[in-house]
Amino acid sequence: MTTNNKITVAYGDGIGPEIMDATLRILDAAGADLHYDVIEIGERVYKSGYESGISPESWEKIRTNKIFLKAPITTPQGGGFKSLNVTIRKSLGLFSNVRPTRTYAPYVSSHFPLMDLVVVRENEEDLYAGIEHQQTNEVVQTLKLISRPGSEKIIRYAFEYAKAYGRKKVTCMTKDNIMKHSDGLFHSIFKEVALEYPDIEADHWIIDIGSAVVANRPESLDVIVTLNLYGDIISDIAAEVAGSVGLGGSANVGMNHAMFEAIHGSAPVIAGQNVANPSGLLNGAIMMLVQMGKAEAAAKIQNAWLRTLEDGVHTQDIYRSQRSEQLVGTKEFADAIIERLGQLPTKLRPVTYNDGDLITVNLSEPKLKKKELVGVDVFIDWTLNDRDPNVMGKAMENIENNVLELKVISNRGVLVFPGGLPETFCSDHWRCRFVAKKDQKVTNEDVLSLLSSIGADGFDFIKTEHLYTFDGKLGYSLSQGE
Ligand code: NAD
Repeated sequence: MTTNNKITVAYGDGIGPEIMDATLRILDAAGADLHYDVIEIGERVYKSGYESGISPESWEKIRTNKIFLKAPITTPQGGGFKSLNVTIRKSLGLFSNVRPTRTYAPYVSSHFPLMDLVVVRENEEDLYAGIEHQQTNEVVQTLKLISRPGSEKIIRYAFEYAKAYGRKKVTCMTKDNIMKHSDGLFHSIFKEVALEYPDIEADHWIIDIGSAVVANRPESLDVIVTLNLYGDIISDIAAEVAGSVGLGGSANVGMNHAMFEAIHGSAPVIAGQNVANPSGLLNGAIMMLVQMGKAEAAAKIQNAWLRTLEDGVHTQDIYRSQRSEQLVGTKEFADAIIERLGQLPTKLRPVTYNDGDLITVNLSEPKLKKKELVGVDVFIDWTLNDRDPNVMGKAMENIENNVLELKVISNRGVLVFPGGLPETFCSDHWRCRFVAKKDQKVTNEDVLSLLSSIGADGFDFIKTEHLYTFDGKLGYSLSQGE
């Protein structure tokens, strides 16, 4: 990621302008030597007719400057406005969302004084692709897409991050006991990549118990790498239990571009009152400086900030009369940090960063496996004959095809024919699995001819999924009971 010290800056909405102003003053005072290319994004831009919240000119600046420091924005309610964050992440390939969450006890209260973890969340795939379809009156589907390169990129990023920042352990979280193919792929790549980092401990938690550990024993975790949806949820749990939602920064990093921000929103209720805490955006900006190879300035600012916290100079959100010394506004808090530039905290652990902390990720050569079509799942919308699976089963067994024959029928993943249980509830969404007859090879033409026969018999087929093997291994799951 090349830069010429010019970054794109957006002041955003609500408390955005105040906390951005405070942050940039601190960066300048610390000698970060940056030039700011200011753009407008957010509420006013949405309302002026750009439904993505950004104009084409601003978009060009973000692309050219590569590094983007963004204050929070207000997304107007209702009316088809798209999330600007999602647009930026996806369009610029910002595959990695990094959220360090540390506690600052006793200066900011937390149940977990030793908590210091980083969530590295995959940012582009999973259920967030937004591919959704209603297929029958009763059933709606969201596609969960997980790719090998997408998973490898984020997992390598997590290990490289751990290496660069002297972290000891990377924990993978998935639900591969249920989603053996999608989450299973992520977990298996994790195991492969972990072998290349023998000095870093690697372990795996199922996401449900993993989330409980984040909530209950966060001190036992170091770097967590996980899929998009799980990462979204556990990074908020982590920030909440740390007691520092207002303090956390976040980085969205890709191969060529990166965006840095606070994790909180635009807090319109306290906007314009000089009471907002600028620490979240400042911590995002510190991550940006490290990414830009300005490790010295990054450490100088973070240590001055830690010193300010332990000196008891606090904004309203963290001020507690028993342990705070001085209640200050946004501007005065920034002044207090600037006064302490060059000082180290004496009680909180000081930070050090290295210029080598820039993270690069190289993917392994793809290994192509032999893909063979061995059958097809035909999904059918059907409610006749009191939804009796045996009626549908007999009808599907009678479909004429030279190559394909019915194997099983399932409903919402549970086998209902042959030999289903009468207790199983059947929705209007049926999956009929057709596989190759003995010694037959399946082609797309066979699938088309099967569909045409099913349609001719009056069945409403709503989608198909091809069944493949890869190097002879099943590329699909079996129904419960198959
Ligand atoms: P919020 O994070 O803005 O506020 C939640 C609570 O935390 C409020 O009580 C607020 O006063 C407090 N708070 C937040 N940041 C603070 C700070 N720096 N200092 C002191 N107190 C702070 O969440 P919300 O109210 O749900 O959302 C407000 C708007 O922000 C919405 O329009 C939402 O869409 C938007 N939002 C934007 C982003 C982003 O741009 N990345 C992220 C989240 C929410």
